[in-house]
Amino acid sequence: MPELGVSPLFAGERHLSVDEARAAIAAALVPIVGTLTLPVGEALGRVLADDLVSPIDVPAHDNSAMDGYAFDGGALATGGDVALRCIGTLLAGAPFGGAVGAGECLRIMTGAVLPAGADTVVPSELARVEADVDGERVRIAPGVVRAGENRRRRGEDLAVGRAALRAGRVLRPADLGLVASLGFERVTVRRALRVALFSTGDEIRAPGEPLPAGCVYDSNRTSLAAALQRLGCEVIDLGLVRDDPAALTATLQRAVASADVVLTSGGVSMGEADHVRAVLARMGEVAFWKVAMRPGRPFAFGPLHRSDAATGPSGTPCWLFALPGNPVAALVGFYVFARDALLQLAGARATPLPVLQARCTSAIRKRPGRTEFQRGIVEPGADGARGWQVRLAGSQGAGVLRSMSEANCLVVLQHAQGAVAAGDAVDVWLFDGLV
Ligand code: AMP
Ligand code: MG
Repeated sequence: MPELGVSPLFAGERHLSVDEARAAIAAALVPIVGTLTLPVGEALGRVLADDLVSPIDVPAHDNSAMDGYAFDGGALATGGDVALRCIGTLLAGAPFGGAVGAGECLRIMTGAVLPAGADTVVPSELARVEADVDGERVRIAPGVVRAGENRRRRGEDLAVGRAALRAGRVLRPADLGLVASLGFERVTVRRALRVALFSTGDEIRAPGEPLPAGCVYDSNRTSLAAALQRLGCEVIDLGLVRDDPAALTATLQRAVASADVVLTSGGVSMGEADHVRAVLARMGEVAFWKVAMRPGRPFAFGPLHRSDAATGPSGTPCWLFALPGNPVAALVGFYVFARDALLQLAGARATPLPVLQARCTSAIRKRPGRTEFQRGIVEPGADGARGWQVRLAGSQGAGVLRSMSEANCLVVLQHAQGAVAAGDAVDVWLFDGLV
């Protein structure tokens, strides 16, 4: 933990680095409790509640990895040509009662259980098959197959009693397949995190309404709700709130009564305005941070107390993440502070954001001492150059949502980093890895 004085949540007037702010958030949070059991097909993106222990060996038997001929690999020891008499055909799912004897083989299909006496499969295309008086004779030339090849071993994927997936796993398509491969129809996952979302500002209007002079449409609620959905959160939409203490208090009270987290945009810089501070001071221990970053400097975070009646079964606080109002700053703030925190609260095991290195096509002015996030478009190197390159997407103004929409990544210029020259490698967060 960084040294932040009395409480990690209160940094006073000092600017926190992005890393310090993220560490302070992570240290404060405790995952929610509560699970439910779902059909496997409905569990995509959910957080696995308990270790998933395999009740069976997968595969359950030694079986063939190829269409071919199964035989005893010991026959290859001579190093010469091997000739085997084919005694039958074995299909997947139809076990063979007998055994393969010396000088014999069995035609076998991929996935069929290897019969007793056979530990090796020569693929059909590598065997020469000749008609013989008593059926088929299979010839294997020296070197085409080694003893034990093309055999899938019992328990090779998973041994009985082993954890196939760990608690906290965010379930991906292959994971769901793995769950099904163990014979489970249902899986126990954490309940979804409930996130109350609202926008603030007297000048903000809902789409569909007229737009008086000086007003702007509310884009943050839409983009943030979508980002929350991608994280698997349940969104409680509390709409638009005027810059007014009574309205703010009433909406926050609704939020703490129903949600694990409150996510707001706008009005954080109004943290300087006493009435917002007063509302939040009454309701919890929210800290207003000045984070050394661009965009998104003002940010508030902290626990809101629940009234007795509203205290959830776990008695945990409701966490406020108050993002700046500028549409780009709000999304960047979401990625930088809320994304990992929400996963942590949801009980997901830490999945560090993948960082890609790409060559920057242009110079970027930057001074050390703050983290900067620029919208970028990452693409394969031009003219066949190896690796990735990134160019900046349009205007980098904090309110310009269009360039955020055109971008496919954030270029992360680290706290201590100085100016970037064209051709330098920079860190890149891919949007599709972020949410
Ligand atoms: P604030 O953080 O409230 O000072 O807002 C900063 C800027 O972001 C102002 O220009 C606001 O009009 C704009 N803004 C605030 N909230 C939203 C929103 N929900 N959608 C679009 N723009 C917003
Ligand atoms: Mg505002």
